[in-house]
Amino acid sequence: MIKYNLECENNHEFESWFSDSNEFNKLNKQKLLECIYCSSNKIQKSIMSPMVSGTKLDEDKMSLLDQKLLNEKNQLIKLRNHIEKNFEFVGDKFSEKVRDVYYDKETKKSIYGTTTPEEKKELEEEGIDLISIPWVGKDN
Ligand SMILES: [Zn+2]
Repeated sequence: MIKYNLECENNHEFESWFSDSNEFNKLNKQKLLECIYCSSNKIQKSIMSPMVSGTKLDEDKMSLLDQKLLNEKNQLIKLRNHIEKNFEFVGDKFSEKVRDVYYDKETKKSIYGTTTPEEKKELEEEGIDLISIPWVGKDN
């Protein structure tokens, strides 16, 4: 089983389980997936990779997040490589770890990982800035 964060055309985020990535593709192609909030069946995978802003993500890489470049797959792969190399992956422990980093000013660690939409909202309410990276697959 594999869990995907999904996002509809209206930016609603929700999670769903699939037996594998082919099942997701198949169901999505047949428009059998729909948003749990608005029933839209324009669904895409949203692999959330939020992270603490600053430290190791330099200006140059930040500019890759420019809307213009968001569709440039090569740029996104570069960005992904940069993050994988320079940030510590904390998986679904992200919301826990990000607080450690945020409240302990000594720690200048850059981390990335996943959050649920609820966790993301909580962190935002605490004033912790997160950036979501469109996480492109390297293999297709
Ligand atoms: Zn929706």
